[in-house]
Amino acid sequence: MNKIIVIGGGPAGMLAAVSASGDNTKVILLEKNDKLGKKLFITGKGRCNITNSADTSVIMKNIMTNTKFMYSALEAYDNTDICRDIESEGCRIKEERGGRMFPVSDHSSDVIKALSNMLDKAGVEVRLRSEVKKLEKTESGFDVFFSSGKKENADAVIIATGGVSYAATGSTGDGFEFAKAFGHTVTDLKPSLVPLVTSDGWCKDLQGLSLKNSGLKMYSAGKLIYEDFGEMMFTHFGVTGPMILSASSYYYKRKSDDVTIHLDLKPALSEDVLDERILREIADNHEKHFVNMLPALLPAKMVPVIARMSGIEEHKKCCDIKKEERKKLVHLLKDLEIHITGTRGFEEAIITKGGISVKEVSPKTMMSKIADGLFFAGEALDLDALTGGFNLQIAWSTGFLAGRSCREYLTGKGELS
Ligand SMILES: Cc1cc2nc3c(=O)[nH]c(=O)nc-3n(C[C@H](O)[C@H](O)[C@H](O)COP(=O)(O)OP(=O)(O)OC[C@H]3O[C@@H](n4cnc5c(N)ncnc54)[C@H](O)[C@@H]3O)c2cc1C
Repeated sequence: MNKIIVIGGGPAGMLAAVSASGDNTKVILLEKNDKLGKKLFITGKGRCNITNSADTSVIMKNIMTNTKFMYSALEAYDNTDICRDIESEGCRIKEERGGRMFPVSDHSSDVIKALSNMLDKAGVEVRLRSEVKKLEKTESGFDVFFSSGKKENADAVIIATGGVSYAATGSTGDGFEFAKAFGHTVTDLKPSLVPLVTSDGWCKDLQGLSLKNSGLKMYSAGKLIYEDFGEMMFTHFGVTGPMILSASSYYYKRKSDDVTIHLDLKPALSEDVLDERILREIADNHEKHFVNMLPALLPAKMVPVIARMSGIEEHKKCCDIKKEERKKLVHLLKDLEIHITGTRGFEEAIITKGGISVKEVSPKTMMSKIADGLFFAGEALDLDALTGGFNLQIAWSTGFLAGRSCREYLTGKGELS
């Protein structure tokens, strides 16, 4: 009987364990936590954005790093496959805005239950509170050493230990050390899908303020590197929210450290139309102080900040506002500049950018090009995507392919035979 050990009970490891099982194959799934899928549980704010309904070509466009490496994995197991498999375990799935797929119940725990059922049916032996400390190659396979001091041998091993973000969920980067010990390269690890930090003190005055329907452009050394429209929020350190998390992925495409975000607070109005609108406000309020006209144009929290930045004296009567002052106000509302100095850390990052170099892994099988019988899956690999269910799809697809290839490698069938 062949024996496969999967290290890591996250989405990639669970799928790998299921697809690795088959006749004459014993699969053991090792998870150091006392339950499976601790990170999966908190995905999508506890609702789990399982995948995205988009075509494979669109999914590929949302994969930011090493896109081409994902081609075979997506061909082997795509968004329709994971939805079918989860639904067949009684967890119905619905589609939301932007093709985002969620369990109908809005509970990520139902996705974990479905995966647990799949593991049960596949006959996988799940061992919780089993932390792997070291991995060694033997003549016939591998020795897996546990923190407890015990040891287990296996014919093949799949590393699915995730990245290093939200380490409290168990993703502490252990797999990177295992891979390095076999001579694998681990590329620079960076927090991504993460809030951005600014040097502009005024952002702190706006902390807690959410903006919906704003335009965003991100420039590096004067070159546009990202453009979006949607929601964001100010915090004590800078900016966050859906649009900002996506922008953080592009932050790493910067050519220099001169990075600015430009917010358009009035995306529906051109500068000229906004100017006309302000002229109307001035006409309607011409005896009022400037600062008392602004609430018609801005959320209350922004009024003192924009008033200060405009350079217009707060108590100036509206009728005394000069044309240049008005133009500066228009510009502030259409092109509010925020200087970005960095990102927040891994503890706030949805994903880890970087990981085990895919140059040393076969995209067709997920097997190491350095050590036969060693496979990789999920976020441990140097793969990352934008929000919308794409990161979990990476875990499902690479997990499935690693598991299937690993079984075929041992049984002498398929790509590796
Ligand atoms: C807050 C948050 C929300 C997210 N929301 C979404 C979303 O809605 N949709 C989406 O597509 N993506 C989302 N993601 C990203 C997604 O969760 C990850 O990309 C995905 O979990 C990666 O799966 P994985 O199996 O590769 O790794 P992980 O989920 O990190 O699992 C790795 C597992 O390995 C275990 N492990 C590690 N080392 C060892 C060891 N030495 N011995 C034994 N076990 C070990 C860990 O305990 C862990 O359980 C979110 C991430 C976060 C942090």
